[in-house]
Amino acid sequence: MTDDSGTHHDAKDAFQTPGDDLLAELEEAYKDLHANPELSMQEHRTAGIAAKWLKDCGYEVTEGVGGTGVVGLLRNGDGPTVLLRADMDALPIEESTELPYASEATGTDRFGQETAIAHLCGHDMHVVWLMGATRMLAEDRDAWKGTVMAVFQPGEETAEGARAMIADGMVKRFPKPDVTLGQHVMPLSAGQIGWRVGTMLSAGDSWEVKLFGRGAHGSMPQKSVDPVVMAASAVMRLQGVVSREVAMTDSAVVTVGTLRAGMSENVIPDHALLRLNVRTFKDQVRDRVLGAVKRILEAEATASGAPKEPEFSVLSEHPVTRNDEVATRKTVATLEARFGADRVQEIEPATASEDFGLFGAAWDVPVVFWVVGGIDPDRYAEAEKAGKVDELPANHAPDFAPVIHPTLQTGVETMLAAAGAWLAPGAKA
Ligand code: ZN
Ligand code: ZN
Repeated sequence: MTDDSGTHHDAKDAFQTPGDDLLAELEEAYKDLHANPELSMQEHRTAGIAAKWLKDCGYEVTEGVGGTGVVGLLRNGDGPTVLLRADMDALPIEESTELPYASEATGTDRFGQETAIAHLCGHDMHVVWLMGATRMLAEDRDAWKGTVMAVFQPGEETAEGARAMIADGMVKRFPKPDVTLGQHVMPLSAGQIGWRVGTMLSAGDSWEVKLFGRGAHGSMPQKSVDPVVMAASAVMRLQGVVSREVAMTDSAVVTVGTLRAGMSENVIPDHALLRLNVRTFKDQVRDRVLGAVKRILEAEATASGAPKEPEFSVLSEHPVTRNDEVATRKTVATLEARFGADRVQEIEPATASEDFGLFGAAWDVPVVFWVVGGIDPDRYAEAEKAGKVDELPANHAPDFAPVIHPTLQTGVETMLAAAGAWLAPGAKA
């Protein structure tokens, strides 16, 4: 838009940085969420906090979308609709940070196992980022026009949440957005913002595989089909998939994260359990790797003389996160104008995975997803100097803990600036 003086105006020009009072409030909320994490699809308390916050800010709030999902609408005149998303779930891992607000929570995971629970992927940070941005948008309604749709999503880690919200009528119940915007805290230097066009995050496929043997006394292996040896052989053979079946110019990860069999040293058990995770960037590579994994597990069972074929079940499927070129460049231009080019860097695709892209796919609208650093800048610079960046705690590590400052403020500002790139300017802009 152009005013009388010929100056270019976006809604972004009107948004200020969050004030100290709001930042203090968000810091309290962050510590509270961090100390009270909830597992995927069980985010009742967190969803309640998000819903109350949105109501207090004047949003039209719908709770219980796809389980614990919360959608807040702020209609503010004619203009584009912008979907802003935060995921809410924590992980079944024991935290080792020793922070004063570290989690001591425990619960039951989706396999029925008792487990420690902790926010070791930073979704607690995502929640307060979106809380901050939604409050500022509500308080500064003269600065923009359009509709803000805030989405607090359950179950990202298990790839259940976005699907559950969509299955619960998301597309029909809420206005079609012009763009879907999401962000994640990552082990970049805090205050830094990372983006790319096209493939941003890998596809992630998780399977559970049950291998069947025949149990026997530990002293009589001739009477058994030993599933421990079968599983061990399969795990080693799986290491050849990436090295022998994936081209040098492509990439993939095959990780066996769970390997379980037997209870006693002198009993050969009758089955073994594997849970494995595959990451890929291309559909053809995904098909090839998943096909090879299945082939090898079946063949190892045959080679061992297993009484029964292995059983496969899908635990989760995250699609590739692909950033729309035009929409991403438009958003990044605003982020660069707001933060300066030295804080906004183009990055390599990450092997992390997300279900965020399913919202864009459901409405057939652009996806824009970026990452925000959470590592103390001095610590990051030191690690970089020593060539030890890979030793910094990353998401899902027991000691992953973003520094609150400036991570919290940065994520509020990035969400706000990105939304401002899309919303129409208001009277004050
Ligand atoms: Zn995660
Ligand atoms: Zn995450």
